[in-house]
Amino acid sequence: MGRVRVAVLCVLTACAFLPIAVQYEPQAGSQRLSGTGSESADSPFPPPRQVKHARRALPAAPKPIFSIPKKFADGHVALSFDIEAETCTPQLLNVLEKHGVRATFFICGTWAKLHRRLLKDIAEAGHEFGNHSSSHRSLPGLDEESLRKELRDLENLVLSETGKSTKPWLRPPYGAVGPASLSVAADEGYDQIILWNVDAKDAARPKRTKDQLLTRLLRARPGSIILMHNLNPAIVGAVDEYLSALKKQGRKAVAVSELLQIQAVAEEREERIRRQKALAALK
Ligand SMILES: [Zn+2]
Repeated sequence: MGRVRVAVLCVLTACAFLPIAVQYEPQAGSQRLSGTGSESADSPFPPPRQVKHARRALPAAPKPIFSIPKKFADGHVALSFDIEAETCTPQLLNVLEKHGVRATFFICGTWAKLHRRLLKDIAEAGHEFGNHSSSHRSLPGLDEESLRKELRDLENLVLSETGKSTKPWLRPPYGAVGPASLSVAADEGYDQIILWNVDAKDAARPKRTKDQLLTRLLRARPGSIILMHNLNPAIVGAVDEYLSALKKQGRKAVAVSELLQIQAVAEEREERIRRQKALAALK
């Protein structure tokens, strides 16, 4: 019995010290980190092991875009459609074609799985795609893995059906955003978070009439991003009349990427003029 007790004690003692032994085990060829200052080169305590496979830091959360400044818009507005429950997509495509206008279509997977032919039609008409998630769940409420899956599933579906990517354009369902979800989205390649500053209210109940929708659309100013859907067929007539009105005003509707490109060019021009003025003042 005495021998057994001694053996058990030895094992327990070894176990108790094992974690400490592992923690301070020096690495072969390891060098003391410079600049720590507290221990000397011949310190009896070797430096702690560096953590391997440290978690990669996520990118910073991109800032959502609601519109661009009027002064950079050169009379343009952006048209965007959240595509989630089918009532009028073919008619929308017809009216956009009639006016020679390109728009951004934020695709939701629940719609796309049921309407693969229409998805191809949007692509073939030359419109731009953005990601509106796979199942239209609010992104800030999801854990990281589910969020990544929402974005990837939709991207893979659109890419496989049309050959076009939805990146880098993301419109989060309900416009719901939070810093953590946006960081993950950016890590997935979505660093352009497109919200809106004019809502046609065509998803509202009871359904609004064409004239009510048109009144909302006419609130847009140069630089606006307009939110619409394929939920209320009255939006087709409203878009038709709105695009005619824009033309009369000498203005134009474009896809979101075009509006942002117009801004980039205008900003560059403004910066060039500023530099030229500063140089002229020195002469
Ligand atoms: Zn939506």
